[in-house]
Order: sequence, then C-alpha cells, then structure tokens
Amino acid sequence: CGIFGIYAPGKDVARLAYYGLFALQHRGQESAGIAVADGRHIAVHKGMGLVAEVFNQDNLRALKGNLAIGHVRYSTTGASSLVNAQPLVFRYLKGMVAIAHNGNLTNANRLRRQLGARGSIFQSSTDSEVIVNLIARYSQEPIEAALRRCQDELEGAYSLVVMTEEKLIGVRDPFGVRPLCLGKMGEAWVLASESCALDTVGAAFCRDIEPGEIVVIDSQGVHSIQGRRAPHSAHCIFEYVYFARPDSILDGETVNLVRRELGRNLAREYQVAADVVIPVPDSGIAAAAGYAEAAGLPFIEGLMKNRYVGRTFIQPTQEMRDLGVRLKLNPIKPILRDKRVVIIDDSIVRGTTSRRIVEMLRQAGVREVHLLAASPPVLHPCYYGIDTSARGELIAARYSLEDIRRHVGADSLYYLSLEGLFRSVTRGAENFCAACFSGRYPIPIPSPEEATKYS
Ligand code: 5GP
Ligand code: SF4
Ligand code: MG
Repeated sequence: CGIFGIYAPGKDVARLAYYGLFALQHRGQESAGIAVADGRHIAVHKGMGLVAEVFNQDNLRALKGNLAIGHVRYSTTGASSLVNAQPLVFRYLKGMVAIAHNGNLTNANRLRRQLGARGSIFQSSTDSEVIVNLIARYSQEPIEAALRRCQDELEGAYSLVVMTEEKLIGVRDPFGVRPLCLGKMGEAWVLASESCALDTVGAAFCRDIEPGEIVVIDSQGVHSIQGRRAPHSAHCIFEYVYFARPDSILDGETVNLVRRELGRNLAREYQVAADVVIPVPDSGIAAAAGYAEAAGLPFIEGLMKNRYVGRTFIQPTQEMRDLGVRLKLNPIKPILRDKRVVIIDDSIVRGTTSRRIVEMLRQAGVREVHLLAASPPVLHPCYYGIDTSARGELIAARYSLEDIRRHVGADSLYYLSLEGLFRSVTRGAENFCAACFSGRYPIPIPSPEEATKYS
C-alpha cells in the first residue's frame, strides 16, 4: 500500500493528497481514499479502483480542511472490497481519528481474538482495524502516547499516517520494514511512503522517519518521540528490487541506482554470449541497463509495454494474470529476429510472466533467449505486506533451476546470488529484510493456524 499525509492549513489539502496518492499509485490499485480534518470534524471519501477513478473535482472540493491523509490499497490480508478501503475513520473518547496503514501485522489474528474477547467489534477484515481498536483502548491518553503503547503490542510491519481533528502523526514499526519519509513545503509538512510523492507535490525531502519513531505535526510544528526500536533495522529489500518507484530514495538508497547495481552484479556473476540485452518493462529496465553496461552489450527496447495496463500481478486470479501479460507486452519483431537475446526481469515469482515472455520472443524469431533475474529466487512467503504469495505459488520453492528453465522455455536461466543482492545496496546486509529470498525472518512469523487469512 501507499500512504500520504499533509499538514497545510490554508491550502487545498485534499487536492495535494490526491497528487501525492497519484505518485504512489504503483503501491496499490485496488482502492483509494482521502480523509480531511478541519479542526472539528474528519470527512472521508474512498472507493474501489485507481486514484483517478475514485476522485473527481466534486468529491475533492467537498473535502475541506487543514490536514489530510490518504491511502492506496494493495491487499495482503483482507478481501478486496470497499469495507477494507482506507483511511479508516472512527470516533473514540477524545474525538475523531483517521488512520492509513502500509504493511502487515504478524499477530493481527491473536490481537483480534484478544480484543474481541474484551468486547471490541470489527467491521472489516483488515489488520489495520486491529490498530484502530488498540488505539481506542488507550483513549485516556494523548494520541501519540496511545500509539507508543500500541507499538508494544503490534508485531510485524507497519508504517502509519494517523490524523486527529488537528494533528498529523507518522509512525514506523520498530524495524522500519515499510518506508515512510518527511517533507516540507513552506509552512506545510508532508509524510509519504516514498520520496517521489514529495517531489510530486513540490515538497522538499527532509528525512526518513526512523524505525520506531512517532512524529507529530500540529500548529506547534514537528516534534518526534523515539518509540519502540529494534536492535537493528529490517528495511524490505524487495522495495528496491521491485516495489518502489525508481525515482524514490528510501532510507538513503536511490531505488534506480540499486536496480542498476543489481544488473551490474548480475553481469559480474553471469556472462552470456549474446547480441542484445532487453528489459522486461518497466520493472526490469534499470537492471537491464546496468547489465548491458557492465557486460558491454547493446541495450535495446525489445518489448513494448502498453502503459495503460496496470501491474499484472495485482489481478486476483491466475486466468486474469495469464491474459494480463499479453495485454501488457508486445515484442518489436524486426529488431529481435535471429538475435541471441538476454532478457532481464527484476524478479521471478510465479514464473507466469517469464514463460509468456519467452514464448513471445520465440514467436518473434529470436535465436536464443537467456532469462536473467536481477534478484535471487523467491523461495519464502512474505508476512510483512508484499503479496509474493503463498509458498505453493512460488515457482522456485517447488522446482529446481533446471525444471524452471524448462518450464519457462529459456536456453539458460540465471538468478542473482544473495551476496550479489546485498552488494547492490550501500548499507550493510544487517539493515535489511530479505526473508523472501533467504528465509531469515527478522520478525517472528505467525504459526500456520495464526496465519489463516481473513476474507
Ligand atoms: P511472475 O514470475 O510471478 O510471473 O512475475 C514476476 C513479475 O512480477 C516481475 O516482472 C515483477 O516485476 C513482478 N512482481 C514481482 N513481485 C511482485 C509483487 O509482489 N507484486 C506485483 N504486483 N508484481 C510483482
Ligand atoms: Fe520485503 Fe521479502 Fe522481507 Fe517481505 S520478506 S519484507 S518482501 S524482503
Ligand atoms: Mg515486472
């Protein structure tokens, strides 16, 4: 998911939130929502679909206030339906609160049962609603203190933007799994999942929110509480590999540069006698450019992407996904015919995309096709908010390299090593979560019973 918050009395905060969410659209296409506070009341508008489908001049104009938060959703727990759309808005002892969450709690089901036993009721199936109920339990305290207490009970990944009638608050989990940064534009303050959203609204990047930090923005300015913090951070490395926008800088790493480096390291590890290097657009572009440069091979755009089609992976069913790849990509045949092609994608998850693409390239008359993944095999499910999905769907978890090569139909197949992955970021491996590749989970994962998804 993508989250955004803005504190800007006197400005059209709903419209700015709309632009911010627009820049974060790649982080979720299922639903979008904006909540606005005017000092006395919180109003919200949300709906299913893309930001541009959910909002129009009229409903944006109706959202008047001094501060706003917004959310774009990509479901990992909870069904894709309007009750699960965010921000969630609720009324508690102290007034109204709105919340938007990116990440996934690992103890949501346990907390839900505990809260339920004490009388809490739930409208939706999202783990975010568990956070709402926890906040309500500490309603005697100021909201930032309540959030600090929540940090002692919540486990897993959460970056939050929270809003009362007059305060904007950003929270990051103790490991800083999901990103969150702070920006400034004149007197106004902005919180966003990625720095690309700050650029879009014209805010200057100030800094990343620290793991465990609670940052409060109100008429007094910005102040920060260092909340619960883990002994080391565990920033999701998959954000750099695939999820984040290449123009974002997250926790000091420029996503585009990390991807180029992934490609360069791939070239150091695996050289192929080939004529051209082509990317799987868009997610493989930077890595393919890095590979081509390091390997001294020409980089060409051999596949055209229909830019009006969303990310295929987001479509909930396998049939939709299969069709999705053809809707999305088309080879430029004359430049591929009789060539030995290296094709680079950022990652291979289910293998669906790769198989279709190899088939497409063969039909376009390529002589050889060598498929290279700019990240290691995805072997383990993510419990922290990226839908790399159940283990059963992860092709590398079930088949050998040779079986996968045969399945996708490539002449050769190579994945970047785990060392190569860590070599591609500037900070040390100990700062990152790479559990979907390595199986080393920095935060305990739920037992199989606990992991049962609500729908
Ligand atoms: P697959 O191997 O599952 O067919 O697809 C891999 C492709 O899906 C890659 O091009 C990669 O960019 C993209 N991908 C990898 N992980 C994710 C994810 O968690 N979500 C989405 N939407 N796409 C992903
Ligand atoms: Fe990111 Fe993978 Fe860790 Fe999930 S398991 S947080 S996708 S690195
Ligand atoms: Mg892709």
